[in-house]
Amino acid sequence: MMRQVELVERVKAYDPSFDEDALNRAYVYAMKMHGGQTRASGDPYFSHPIEVAGILTELKLDHSSIITALLHDLVEDTETSLADIESKFGPDIARLVDGVTKLSRLEHQSEQTQHAENFRKLLLAMSEDIRVLLVKLADRLHNMRTLTYIKSADKRRRIARETMDIYAPLAERIGMQRFKDELQDLAFAELNPEARGSILARFEFLQSQGGDLTALIVDRLKHALAKEGIEAWVSGRNKTPYSIWNKMQHKNIAFEQLSDIMAFRVVVGSIEESYHALGCLHAQYSVVPGRFKDYISTPKPNGYRSLHTGLIGPERHRIEIQIRTREMHDVAEFGVAAHWKYKQSEIKVDGRQYRWLRELLDILEHTSNPEEFIEHTKLEMFQDQVFCFTPKGDLIALPRGATPVDFAYAVHSEVGDTCVGAKVNGRIIPLRAQLQNGDQVEVLTSKTQTPSPDWEKFVVSGKAKARIRRFVHMREREQYSELGRQILIKSFREEGYEISDKALGGVLKKFKADALDDLFAAVGKGTTTAREVLVAVYPGVRDTARRRHLWPFHSRARARSAKATSAALPIKGLIPGMAVHYAHCCHPLPGERIVGIVTTGKGVTVHTIDCETLASFQDTPERWIDLAWDVESAQDMHTGRLHVVVANEPGSLGNLSTIIGKSQGNISNLKITNRSVDFFEMLVDVEVQDVKHLSDIIAALRAATVITSVERSRR
Ligand code: MN
Repeated sequence: MMRQVELVERVKAYDPSFDEDALNRAYVYAMKMHGGQTRASGDPYFSHPIEVAGILTELKLDHSSIITALLHDLVEDTETSLADIESKFGPDIARLVDGVTKLSRLEHQSEQTQHAENFRKLLLAMSEDIRVLLVKLADRLHNMRTLTYIKSADKRRRIARETMDIYAPLAERIGMQRFKDELQDLAFAELNPEARGSILARFEFLQSQGGDLTALIVDRLKHALAKEGIEAWVSGRNKTPYSIWNKMQHKNIAFEQLSDIMAFRVVVGSIEESYHALGCLHAQYSVVPGRFKDYISTPKPNGYRSLHTGLIGPERHRIEIQIRTREMHDVAEFGVAAHWKYKQSEIKVDGRQYRWLRELLDILEHTSNPEEFIEHTKLEMFQDQVFCFTPKGDLIALPRGATPVDFAYAVHSEVGDTCVGAKVNGRIIPLRAQLQNGDQVEVLTSKTQTPSPDWEKFVVSGKAKARIRRFVHMREREQYSELGRQILIKSFREEGYEISDKALGGVLKKFKADALDDLFAAVGKGTTTAREVLVAVYPGVRDTARRRHLWPFHSRARARSAKATSAALPIKGLIPGMAVHYAHCCHPLPGERIVGIVTTGKGVTVHTIDCETLASFQDTPERWIDLAWDVESAQDMHTGRLHVVVANEPGSLGNLSTIIGKSQGNISNLKITNRSVDFFEMLVDVEVQDVKHLSDIIAALRAATVITSVERSRR
C-alpha cells in the first residue's frame, strides 16, 4: 500500500504548488472512515482508494482529482455524508465525489449488451466534469486488477463483461489508449482465458526461437533514423493478446498466419521530423501496401494523432510503426487527461469548470472527413439526451426534456396509448414532468385510456408526437364521419329518401372515396355537400327541385323542413349546408354571445365572443360570421367543460358526480390531468342546456367541501 508521503511526493513532482495540507487531510480522513473494512483480497479497504489515487498521479491529474480518488467510496460505503465532505473539503471536491458516487450507483444496472452504447452515453452525459469520469475509470481499472480475488465466478464474469462493453470503449472514446488496452486485456483474461493463454504461449514460442526480437528491431530502427540525422525515442512491444484475438476473429485467420504482432513507436521532436522519419523508413524498408494512415493531418475523433505505416522491417519481420511527437504521444496514451495537462493553466485562470465536452470539441475542431463529423455530432447529441431505466433495467434513450409519456411510447406504442400515470424512482409523478438521467420509470397503464390531445403539448420525442397526432386525427375523422352521416340522413329525408349503404356505395368512385366513412367525413368537413351526394344517388332529384319553384305547395313544405333543420342546430345566421363545430377551446353554450369562424374545408367553428383563440383571426375579418343562439329551438344538450380540483380522498369523486347528477347535468367525459398525494386535478365535460344551467352546477359544486376549486375551462 502506498504511503501518505509517497503519494504526496508523486503529486509534488509534477505540481509543486498543490494543496498538500488538503491531500494529507483526505488521506487520513478516508483511512479513518473506511476503518476496519476489507477488500475481497483481504487487504484493508483503504488500499483501494489509494491505488486509484496512484493511478491518477500517472496521468498527472490535479490535486482535486487525487483527493476525489481518495474519498470516492466514502459516501457509498461508509457513514460519511456528502455534507461531511463539503464541510471538510469544500464544494468543488464534494461535487466531484458526488459525481463519482452517482456513476457508481449506475454500475451493474444494465447487464444486457444491446444497451451498452446507451449506457456509455449515460455515463458521459452524467460526467459533466471530465475528472469524474477519469476517477471512475481509474476505480474500474483497479477493481479489474484485483478481479481474481472475487470468489463468485458469475460476478467476475459480469464485471468483466461490463468492462469490455462499457468502460474500455469509454476509455477509447476519450482517447485513453493505455487504460483501454489494460481494461480490455484484464477483461479478456476473465472472459476467455484459453484464447488469451494460447496467444501468450505463442509469444513465448517466438521469443524462444528468435531471442529478444523487439529489442533487436528497436535498435535497428534507431540506427536507420540516426543515419539520417533524426534523433528519436523508439520503443517496441507485442500487441495486446486481445487486439490480436480481435484481428483473428475479424479476418478469420490462424495465429500462425498473423505476422505483424509487434508494434513500434517512434517519438520525435516535431511534426516535420515525423514526416522526415516516415520518409526515411519508407526508403530503407519495403512498405506493406494499404497500411499507411496519416492521423496527423486528419486526427481521430478522440484527438489521436500519429502517422501509421506497415513495413517489412529489420530481419524481414512484418511490423507496424507509429510515428508521432511527444505531445501526440501523451495524448495517445492518456487522451483527454493529457489534453487537460497541457491546458491546465488556462483553466485555473478562468476559474471555470472543466467541461469534458467543450474540450473534446476543441480537439475535434480540425476534423474534416464526414465520418468523423458524424462522430462529432453524436458527441454533441448525447448532451441533449436523457437516459432512463425500465423496471427490468433496460436503458431507454430519450431527447432531453422527455416526459413519462415519451418514455411510455419509447417502450411500446401500446404502452404509450394506454398510459395513465408514471412512477419515477418509486414515486408517482405527473405525466408532464421532465425525466432526469438515471431515473427508473414505471409506466402505469389502463385498458380504457386513449391518447389525449393535451399530451401533444408536452411530449418531445418524434415517436410520441406522431402516435398522438395519428390518434387525434383518427378521432377527428370519426367525428367528421358521424357528423357527415347525420347531415346526409337529414338532407335525404328532406327529399323523401332514406340513405342506404348500397346506394351510397355506388357513387363512392365519383367522390374519390374508398369507403363510406370517407364520404361521410368529406360531407362532415364540408369538402363535399350533401346536395352533391343526393344528386349523384338520385339524378332525378334535380327535377323535384325545379318543380318546387312552380308549385307553392312544395315551397312551403321545404320551408317547414328548413325550419326543422335549424331546430337541430339552434343557431341563427348559419350558411346552409355548412358543417358546424363547437370550438373545443371555449365550449360555447346557449345563452352566451357567440361568433363563427369559417375555415375552408372545415366549415364553421362556433366560439364564445370572449374566447382567446379569436385573437388569432383578427386580421381576417372576412372569416367572421355573426351568429346567435335560437333560444326557443335549443332543446339539445350542449357540452360545457369544467376544470375541477378535488381532494384525493375516498368518495370525493362519487360526491362530484352526485352533485352534477342532482343538478340535471350529465357527465359525458372525465379526464384526470394531474394526480398528487393530496388532490386530483381534472377536466369534466358536462352536458347542459345552456350557460345558466352550467352556472348552477358550478355553484352547487363550489358549495361542496371536498371540492377545492371549479372553473369553466377555456382550454
Ligand atoms: Mn471504488
